[in-house]
Amino acid sequence: MNFNMELPGLKGVNIEDIIEQENRILVYVSMPLKEHSCPTCGEKTSKVHDYRTRKIGHLSFWGRLTKLMYRCRRYRCTCGKRFAEKAPFVERYQRFSKEVNQAMIIQSVQSKTFKDAAMTLGTSISTIIRRFIKQAKAALPEGFRLPKAIAIDEYKADTDAGKYQLIIANAETHEPIDILPNRRLQTIKTYLQKYGQDVEIVVMDMNGSFKAAVHQALAKPIIVADRFHYCRYIHWALDDVRRKVQKEMHAYDRKKCKRMRFVLHKNSAKLSDDERWYLNRYLSLSPELKKAYELKEAYKQWFTQAKEENNIQKIKEGLEAFYRKVEEASIPSFKKRIQTLKNWQIEILNSFVFDYSNGFLEGINNKTKVLKRNAYGFHKYEHFKAKILLGHMYKKIGLHVG
Ligand SMILES: [Zn+2]
Repeated sequence: MNFNMELPGLKGVNIEDIIEQENRILVYVSMPLKEHSCPTCGEKTSKVHDYRTRKIGHLSFWGRLTKLMYRCRRYRCTCGKRFAEKAPFVERYQRFSKEVNQAMIIQSVQSKTFKDAAMTLGTSISTIIRRFIKQAKAALPEGFRLPKAIAIDEYKADTDAGKYQLIIANAETHEPIDILPNRRLQTIKTYLQKYGQDVEIVVMDMNGSFKAAVHQALAKPIIVADRFHYCRYIHWALDDVRRKVQKEMHAYDRKKCKRMRFVLHKNSAKLSDDERWYLNRYLSLSPELKKAYELKEAYKQWFTQAKEENNIQKIKEGLEAFYRKVEEASIPSFKKRIQTLKNWQIEILNSFVFDYSNGFLEGINNKTKVLKRNAYGFHKYEHFKAKILLGHMYKKIGLHVG
């Protein structure tokens, strides 16, 4: 019997029979008889020596695991050499077809867990992990050079290498480049000394040890503070005040104020009438909260203008004018928070000169949280790192199995 059909991954292959068993499908295949060149002497031959049946794992068809029963032909040359024919769907000595090997790599990278990938493809977890590690070694080369502008950020991963890891990404293309086992100064410094010859700009949150590491490792780095991160300091200061004055309110207002705290942080132009009513009520209950709110608004005004302004001197003067307002208002939490901004003034101003942020790392960060929940097999730092980096590389490759 000969099936006049083509199955995925079996182009140009004779399908001789398909047998359904309880939980799997056996596809009997062979290659057309064809002249082959002898691997020893190069002479052409089409003399058949014998046949052997090889059992090869293939993609699942119609939801069932599929084995290829490959009737592999061996040829004989006049020089005495016997050799197996060439088959497009499987390599020598392999137990799985090329398509399955490809699917294993893709599944190992894209599935939530190695176990999921193993179940989908009807193989063992250890086989999946082996493919994954092999692919990671091939696709993630050592000894590269970092690009001109990088963004760094820490995230909590709880791997065998430690609680926190540091992710390094290209600040222009947003591609993740590497993940360091921890966020320690010495680790970052050594890494940058090794790979950072070309690095000129580093985008980061306001983290003192990151800054120190960059200064110690690179000759004349330009550090850019992430905008979203330093703006949060002002919102935190406002929240400190809100929490403090809330305690002195009546129980009803206290609860309501806590629940409605977002009205303090929301862009005032976008408040609804209802929200504005609550805002005015709380500001009328506490002169200190009112002052704190006005400082936040003054800061926002500076920030909005700074984004449009090309003259860095004017941006700087605007920021200094804001600092004076904070001094005049004399609210301890604001004074404390702006001290951090003052310590990072150059880096904050740089964020208006160089249009980089590290906000995009948040997306990668969220992915690590999902991974942690499905942590099977990813408590190992090396696996975790490969999963994040390969996952990004494979983002555009769709699944074509099952
Ligand atoms: Zn020969």
